[in-house]
Amino acid sequence: MNTEVFNAKTQKENGTQYAGRVIRSGGLVAFPTETVYGLGANGMDGEAVQRIFDAKGRPSDNPLILHVAKKSDVKQLWRHVPDEAKKLMDAFWPGPLTLIFVKSDAVPDEVTAGLSTVAVRMPDHKTALALIRAAGVPIAAPSANISGRPSPTTAEHVLADMDGRIDVVLDGGPCSVGVESTVLTLVGRPTILRPGGITREMLEQVIGEVDVSPAVLRPLREGEVAASPGMKHRHYAPDARVVVAKGSARKAASIICREYEIEEAMGNRCIVLGTEQTRACYHGMNCDIIGDRDDPRTLCAELFAALRRWSGKADVIFAESVDAEEQGLAYMNRLLRAAGFDVIDS
Ligand code: AMP
Ligand code: MG
Repeated sequence: MNTEVFNAKTQKENGTQYAGRVIRSGGLVAFPTETVYGLGANGMDGEAVQRIFDAKGRPSDNPLILHVAKKSDVKQLWRHVPDEAKKLMDAFWPGPLTLIFVKSDAVPDEVTAGLSTVAVRMPDHKTALALIRAAGVPIAAPSANISGRPSPTTAEHVLADMDGRIDVVLDGGPCSVGVESTVLTLVGRPTILRPGGITREMLEQVIGEVDVSPAVLRPLREGEVAASPGMKHRHYAPDARVVVAKGSARKAASIICREYEIEEAMGNRCIVLGTEQTRACYHGMNCDIIGDRDDPRTLCAELFAALRRWSGKADVIFAESVDAEEQGLAYMNRLLRAAGFDVIDS
């Protein structure tokens, strides 16, 4: 299959109209959103949705998110629209918040992997919204990477994984948030299944108390049922060992310096994903400064790109943990999974 690439700015009209037709006729289109690049298909067509799973090598028990271009579209996808959803959509849509509720009969089983609930979101990105409008249907889309690899935040990342496997890539430049949406279920007590750019604190200001699934910062225990099927699969892994150093900035940096020396002595190629605050600690070492510890949004924006940059080029990638609060929770969720929970605590 030949994958066609359109520049979402210079080929705006042609690109989105053509891609919309591809979606309607059952094809696959990768497109930018504010979180990461999505791999889209017609969300109302089970066969088209199945092609997403095939192209990604995605486990068939992991459901997809439906992307809509206006809030009222949820009416056809959910059995009804709960009050909490109305409040949250008004506060955060378009934006990086996915809401889960009981599905309507219109939603194919391929989208929900057989579950009775469906995840929906309205992305805050001009190209994504234009594509959904051009397609005229909700677009089912996971991240546009081979399953298990870091999510793509540029069109180059998408092509590295998907060239020849999908019909179209809309290139809209780098994604601003850099990690996937917050996933919140509204079935039962509102619970965050996956943290993202919209934080627990932001949600609580709108609907009151919100729980966070305990599996957000640790692996699933044996026999534990995943609230979100995505939690049990290996995720975000580059071709390198990823090691997370715990503790304050100084403590984490000193652990990294010590372990780096040991690994290097064994002949392993090392890289540190450092921060503005710890730059000086890694003098003379291979270091890639990815952001500011005091603003974890900057770390979220760079994490996946950095993992891809060093994938296959380093044997060990070291990273500092940060406080798992506000956007730091999303950062730690992705980093710990990328590391397969390989954590060093002094
Ligand atoms: P991705 O497609 O990579 O953004 O992943 C979507 C995430 O949402 C995965 O972790 C899924 O397991 C989760 N998800 C989607 N639909 C549901 C649902 N109906 N119930 C629980 N989790 C869901
Ligand atoms: Mg994904």
